[in-house]
Amino acid sequence: MKYYILFGPPGAGKGTQAAALAEKYRLRHISTGALLRKEISAGSELGLKAKALIEAGSLVPDEVVEGMIESEFDSVKDVDGFLLDGFPRTLAQAEALDGILSRKGEEVTATLSIMIPDEIIFERIAHRAAIEGRADDADPDTIRNRIDTYHRQTEPLVDYYRKAGKYREADGTGSIEEVRERIFSLMEKV
Ligand code: AMP
Repeated sequence: MKYYILFGPPGAGKGTQAAALAEKYRLRHISTGALLRKEISAGSELGLKAKALIEAGSLVPDEVVEGMIESEFDSVKDVDGFLLDGFPRTLAQAEALDGILSRKGEEVTATLSIMIPDEIIFERIAHRAAIEGRADDADPDTIRNRIDTYHRQTEPLVDYYRKAGKYREADGTGSIEEVRERIFSLMEKV
């Protein structure tokens, strides 16, 4: 099995690009953000706990998303691999992922990073707010907190995967098609 991580700041286009990648390479796309939003709409206990954190632009506890990822891995069979979008987001999650995979005799195949500067994050999220109606896209303070959270907690993972020789980066500026081509060409080199 292949285990790809789609990495990048909020608004980089991970969700958009994941759909094309998943189809082309027969991967199961797992977005922890989408799974959490599903829990919120279902009104589950987990959803209720996650809602306030998500709407403040903070991360939900590591154990919550680690559990979700592990059960997705165990429930999906008919694919060539997985494409993780929005996970891992902390060093603890990255280490937990390594643990989950090593217990299966597997490892992360590669991290594909989509990079955009902070100025563009705001523009992209404002544009998405009009289309998707996500509560955490609507409020400037929440967006700022998500960007800060990304720099403080998630960006250190660049070094983590670089040291492991598993980090590949694509320029995330430009059109959806341009970025897609750049990511496809990274995939060809993995
Ligand atoms: P996303 O759809 O990936 O932008 O995620 C939306 C929100 O869900 C994030 O701002 C976090 O509050 C929460 N979330 C998603 N994935 C994770 C994760 N791996 N760890 C902690 N919180 C997460």
